[in-house]
Amino acid sequence: MNVYMDHEASRPVDPLVLEAMMPYFSEKFGNPASFHKLGFEAQRAMKTARGQVASLIDAQESEIIFTSSATESNNLGLIGAARRHRKRGNRIVVSGIEHISVLNVCKELGREGFEIKYVPVDSEGIIELDRLSELVNDETVLVSVMVANGEIGTIQPVKEVAEVAHQHGALFHTDATAAAGQISLDVSTMEIDLMTLSSNDLYGPRGTGCLYVRTGLRLKPLMIGGGQEAGMRSGSENIPGIVGMGKAAELAKETLLAEATRLTRLRDRLIRGMMESVPDSYLNGHRKQRLPNNVNMRFSYIEGESLILSLDQLGIQVSSGSACTAKTLEPSHVLLSLGLKHEEAHGSLVFTLGKGNNEGDVEYVIQHMPGVVRKLRAMSPLTPEELR
Ligand code: PMP
Repeated sequence: MNVYMDHEASRPVDPLVLEAMMPYFSEKFGNPASFHKLGFEAQRAMKTARGQVASLIDAQESEIIFTSSATESNNLGLIGAARRHRKRGNRIVVSGIEHISVLNVCKELGREGFEIKYVPVDSEGIIELDRLSELVNDETVLVSVMVANGEIGTIQPVKEVAEVAHQHGALFHTDATAAAGQISLDVSTMEIDLMTLSSNDLYGPRGTGCLYVRTGLRLKPLMIGGGQEAGMRSGSENIPGIVGMGKAAELAKETLLAEATRLTRLRDRLIRGMMESVPDSYLNGHRKQRLPNNVNMRFSYIEGESLILSLDQLGIQVSSGSACTAKTLEPSHVLLSLGLKHEEAHGSLVFTLGKGNNEGDVEYVIQHMPGVVRKLRAMSPLTPEELR
């Protein structure tokens, strides 16, 4: 039996997505800049994909700028907006639990002279709106708060955050990488200026992402060249990737509600099953304001890494946190921001469910967790006698 529950790190490409992409590697190899039938074919494919992605977030086709990844979109959104609109102010406000690609970009902008302010989150990972209101002022050029955190699953009150930003004339960027395809997103109602999305999180190919840029908003590009993507991202377009992302977005929109309901049920069964059968286990993140596919559990007295290895031997793949920072051995900045101690953060495990998971998978995990945890606790010098 193999149970893959690390969808936040990587998702398989949907077979229908792969099928849509295939011709664009071979017979449909045109460059959309070309004035002949192959070029026109590529232009049409891009237009379709732009429409499919726009439709997922209720945007217009012209507002979608394709990039190579969510990381690039975060770079373009934040650096591009901060540099272009510096006259609006010098302050940038972000949450302390943003993805590392947002936090490290902010560090870089800090070196360029921007003043970076970090808004704390509460013990369940929800941004402190009072603190946000204190930190966003008329000198603020940009506010960035993610829709949902892929590690702890907590969903943020993004519309309220956007309102605070706009009251002070600041732009609002949101990283929707982890949320897209799982919860409904609507850029108008949510009052978004810039939104990051990634293809793989929608079961599309890696190497493609996009940035939603509200009509009329200009950014200072990071890639300078032939002026593709409305001048905001030069370089010949990755047509197969873009076609794949478009198809993935279309499928995500079609299946969103049913899949969210199904995954929420599996998620809740997994949480309940583990909490009932493993003593001293706790849920990290918000109980309800949570992505349908995310379970982040803390098991006292053991290390997440040893849990991962033991579970892998049983055919269960999970993660200790964000794949992007997993190699640093540092405890997750997200878990520390919730107020957890280092050892509590180290003893946490992330299960991210996806299309391929079913009830049988969840029961398999619930069945094996108590034994694995007991065995590891028996070896840990920190375990109290009654838990051995
Ligand atoms: N933002 C968020 C919220 C993420 O979870 C991730 C990782 N999936 C990224 C950005 C970066 O994605 P990528 O490494 O594909 O650029």
